[in-house]
Formats: sequence, C-alpha cells, structure tokens
Amino acid sequence: MRVYPLLERYFRLDGGAMHGVVPRVLWEKKHVPDNRGRIRLAARPMLILEHDRGILIDGGIGIAYDSKFIDIFGIEEGPGLLGELQRIGVSPDRITDVVVTHLHFDHVGGLWDRDRNFIPERAVIHVQKSHWEWACHPSAKDSASFVKWQIEKLHTSNLLLHDGPYDMSGAVSIIPLDGHTRGLQAVIVKDGNDEIVYPSDTIPTRAHLNLPWAMAYDNEPLTVLSDKEAIIKRVRENAGRLFLEHEPHEPWVEASELK
Ligand SMILES: [Zn+2]
Repeated sequence: MRVYPLLERYFRLDGGAMHGVVPRVLWEKKHVPDNRGRIRLAARPMLILEHDRGILIDGGIGIAYDSKFIDIFGIEEGPGLLGELQRIGVSPDRITDVVVTHLHFDHVGGLWDRDRNFIPERAVIHVQKSHWEWACHPSAKDSASFVKWQIEKLHTSNLLLHDGPYDMSGAVSIIPLDGHTRGLQAVIVKDGNDEIVYPSDTIPTRAHLNLPWAMAYDNEPLTVLSDKEAIIKRVRENAGRLFLEHEPHEPWVEASELK
C-alpha cells in the first residue's frame, strides 16, 4: 500500500470565521491575514493505492468557478488534482473510490477540471446518507458552502450512500462525525503499524489542535470540541499521525507533538 499526500491548491477564507471566538490578536500570530482579513489555506486530498484499489480522500477546491467567486475565496491556480496525479505518475483511471468527507466546495470542487469534467470518472463516490440529505437541503448557516452545480452533478454520479461507520478496505475505514456538518466522514488509514487520521474539517489546521479554537462555520461547535478531544487521544494512544487538510505549512502532526 502506498499513501500519497496531495496539495491541490491554496485558497483563502476569512480569518475571523476560521477561528470562531478566538480574538484576532491571538490567531493573527498563527495565520497572518491579508489586507482583506483572509488567511491562506491549503486543500490537501490524499490518495491511497492498494493492488486493485485507488482510494482518493476529497478532491480539493478546484478552479471551475466564475471570477467573482475566485476573487472572494482567493483561489490560486495551483496544480489541481490532475496536476498532482501527474506529478506522482498515477492515471485518474486508477481511482476506484472517492471518499468525500463532506460536500462543501473546498472538499469536493477539485474533483472537476476547469471545464467541469469529472476527473475520477470510473470511481464510486462515498458519502454519508445523512450528509447527502443535508447537502440537498442545507441549513441557512452552511448553505453557502454547498455549490449548486456540484451537488447537481453528483446526483448523476456513481454515488454510494452509507449509514454510519464502514470499512473501505482492510486498511481504510470511515467514522462519521456530526460537528462541522451533519455526516462528515473522518478517515482512518492503517499502513502496517502506522495509523494516519484524516479528520477533515474537525481539525482543519494546526491552530485548531487547541480545543477552543474552532471555526465559526461549525454547525455543532460542542460536538466538534468533543470529537477533537477523542481524535487527539486516539492519535496519542496509538502513536499515530494526523494529516490536516487545510494546514498551509506542515500538514503531518506526530503523536509526540500532541498535548
Ligand atoms: Zn474545509
């Protein structure tokens, strides 16, 4: 089994919204905002190759948006998913499964190229049933995080809805968490003795390892807090590693770094 961390591209979100109740005088030391109050974030999918499976976790943010949207979210050109697959020498056809942690545009938009062609054409797309229903009828709070054409296009894709935890393969398993949005999927990857946890937006950056540092985007903030605590405990106990999807600098966090 091989594990490939990918860096699809960078984008920007409001620094205040990313840090919830934390005062700017504290968070601006960790994420320096630009002159529009935005901080630079990464979109980092992960690819796991096994002999007959190619499991992609999330697709990044993508670039198939109008110029106003690209400006608001500071979406950078970057390699995109295709560029990253090319870099590691893997054809899109090798992707048999995509685990979409959730359907917010910064996690799913990168599955399409700039002409809105679906990149992992032959893959099965795995989503929690509760999240699919939520994405089709979102709360007013997170409706802006779902992009209509993406959800519409997924209606006709090879979608497989799950109800609760499931195993993708011996090495990859899924745990649903409801804090950030209903039915978000955290992913556990076991590579021999090495356990990698991909918490998605439950812990988006290193700054969010600090328990009360949570995003204003979270639908259930107290659930995020207890899920974060459980994930950190698990990584410490199993001497595993975390891979943080939006961390702009070093995305790998070793168990020894966790308090
Ligand atoms: Zn996100």
